[in-house]
Amino acid sequence: MALAAQYRVSPFAIASVNGLMPAAPLIPGQSLFIPDAGNTPTGLPWPLVFLTMSPSLAEQGRTLRLKARLDGEAVLSGAFDLHPLRFAEEGGAWYALQGIEAEAEPGLHSFTITVTLPSGQSTSFAQLIPVRRMDYGTQNLPPVDPLTIDPTVTEPEWEYLKSFTTQFTPARYWQGVFALPFGGRVSSPFGIVRTYNNGQFVSSHTGTDFTGRPGSPIYAAAAGVVVVAEPLTVRGNATLIDHGWGVYTGYWHQSEIKVEVGDVVRAGQEIGLLGSTGRVTGPNLHWELWVGGAPIDPMEWTETPFP
Ligand SMILES: [Zn+2]
Repeated sequence: MALAAQYRVSPFAIASVNGLMPAAPLIPGQSLFIPDAGNTPTGLPWPLVFLTMSPSLAEQGRTLRLKARLDGEAVLSGAFDLHPLRFAEEGGAWYALQGIEAEAEPGLHSFTITVTLPSGQSTSFAQLIPVRRMDYGTQNLPPVDPLTIDPTVTEPEWEYLKSFTTQFTPARYWQGVFALPFGGRVSSPFGIVRTYNNGQFVSSHTGTDFTGRPGSPIYAAAAGVVVVAEPLTVRGNATLIDHGWGVYTGYWHQSEIKVEVGDVVRAGQEIGLLGSTGRVTGPNLHWELWVGGAPIDPMEWTETPFP
């Protein structure tokens, strides 16, 4: 119980994390894996010799970081819920970054790591990882064009963007923290639950909105490669940049796009102008950050350097 209190995890969660996961084989002698906290399970399947997860509790709308070390040749893979974990190597360590959606259910989520040897033999271990509720607030918005809240329009556009943001580029293009993409003030934060047109449409805000004078410059938050640069119905003039390792930033509602698909951009490069195209209630830049196929609070990456 002292352990549960220390980590603010329910006793049930500790019991579950500690081996009650029938879906995947548990390794013999597996120790309790408290995410982060500087400890790592003993008896990891060789050649996996080190594994940490941070933060200590997964949080809605934030990024989960895994760091591993291998003492021989093997391939690391895994999953967090339905998201495949993809590892990239740098400086002798292997990293996987995974976003947790703001709408992820608070409570226990499945987490699996698989170590595959060159012979093809593989060993998996699984745990349940608690996701902590974050309170992002609620907001009612003035009416918008009904077309932009029509599911036959919103869902294909969402799937279209996911077809890019679920990809994984093994190279890492960014360095350090991300820059703010716009000089204006934040007009709507990430995660706030917003109700449109008298309750006809409710959605959790997938990015951070900035407002300012229409036509003001928008900057790339980090180095990367442009993978989308086109007008969309809901998002208006939209640009999506691949930063590598499954990390993408999106810039919506621009009056003008100043880059093309395939362009290599540097951090701070002007990529477009602030506008009011698509589903807006006024001129704004909606800025989005995806990690491992999940949109998370982009402001986290302006404060915390990853990996
Ligand atoms: Zn927005």
